[in-house]
Amino acid sequence: MRLRVPLYPFRVMASITRREWDDPASIIRFQTERLRKVLRSANRLPYYREVFAGCNIDPESCTMEQFSRLPILTKDVVQQHFPETYFRQVTSERLRSIRTSGSTGTPLTIVMNRRERAFRAGVLWYGARKLGVRYLDSICQIGGLPSTLRALGAEHHSSLLNRLGIRARYYLDMKHDVAYIADRLSAFKPHVLIALPSFLALLGQYLRDHHRALPTVRLIWSGGEVLMPSSRQLIESAFGCSVVNMYSSFELGLMAYECTNAHLHSIPDATILEVVNRNADGVGDVVVTSLSQHTMPLIRYGIGDRIKVSSSPCPCGVPFEAFEDIEGRANDLLVLPSGARMSWRAIGEFRNIPGIVQYQIIQRKTDHVQVYIQKNDHFTEASVCEIKRRVQRGYRGELVHVDVIEKTLLERAPGGKLRAVISEVGMK
Ligand SMILES: [Zn+2]
Repeated sequence: MRLRVPLYPFRVMASITRREWDDPASIIRFQTERLRKVLRSANRLPYYREVFAGCNIDPESCTMEQFSRLPILTKDVVQQHFPETYFRQVTSERLRSIRTSGSTGTPLTIVMNRRERAFRAGVLWYGARKLGVRYLDSICQIGGLPSTLRALGAEHHSSLLNRLGIRARYYLDMKHDVAYIADRLSAFKPHVLIALPSFLALLGQYLRDHHRALPTVRLIWSGGEVLMPSSRQLIESAFGCSVVNMYSSFELGLMAYECTNAHLHSIPDATILEVVNRNADGVGDVVVTSLSQHTMPLIRYGIGDRIKVSSSPCPCGVPFEAFEDIEGRANDLLVLPSGARMSWRAIGEFRNIPGIVQYQIIQRKTDHVQVYIQKNDHFTEASVCEIKRRVQRGYRGELVHVDVIEKTLLERAPGGKLRAVISEVGMK
């Protein structure tokens, strides 16, 4: 077992690649089989036993239709009913746990065995290859969970490779300032950068302002926050390379990768991605089921993100389900005084307003919005007026009071995420 595990991620990659030639019906059959195995494992947990009995579900014969009737698992339930100690009691395997940064509230722990972690690495490698990462590429990750970099090979890594710059793996903490990070990147010469889009935009702006370049960077891999179109444009022009997007979470690993047609594709071996409560535009809440996590099964887990389903099949020809856009977290939605909900897209983005380095919109009350900004010398009174005008436009004639507050540094959540929009009203 010990010897076979390092090869397991490659087997996972090969298996997903083979599935690219399957038809949608065989993919569903394959997922149903995998789902039943997960349900069988879940049946050991008192919480799931009760839920399955209540919904009249037999893990051995559950169909996709029966599965979609299972209640949505919330983070609170996971925190209450899935104590870490429980998993250690029921298995003799060596388990490892990872904890959330708590960027969205209380931290959460996910427990996995060795094989499950290796599977996750295989899925990540598959996604990385689809996004254009090559085997010998040197990768630098800035901020976020170091487990991503570990899964991309840093775990079995020797410092000699780092010194030679072959298949090197570097991690930079976001607590450093942008100038320091730019210097380190110039020294590391990575081919691939992994970071949060808000940080990449900040770094891109710095490179542009100081007429600097990072010529070795061939690919930028963004994730963890919504990649807004203006940020994408800024990053691509500042670095002179393309930005690819991924949809991942610490609870379930990589869930979707972006194809060459800018659609996000789910990975059928890893998860079942459902979009529930869809509006007329096809935007709804993501409910996700892991098909590989048996130690701590996550079945119909409401992850709190909103995503837009694709109305037509993707021209790239991959039969995996396609999504158009990640809309953001459920509480990125602003609530208007009339009760109507509005996406940040209605306000648009502020990055193209002169003088704005970074910004954050916080809705304190339905009719009160605060906009925190980090500015540079180009910021003028006209920029303030433009911010207010755009928020007002998004409110579609409803009353709103807008405060524009200057800050030297915007506060990032634990884990480094900078949420562009937070509604304190929507969270209640
Ligand atoms: Zn595609």
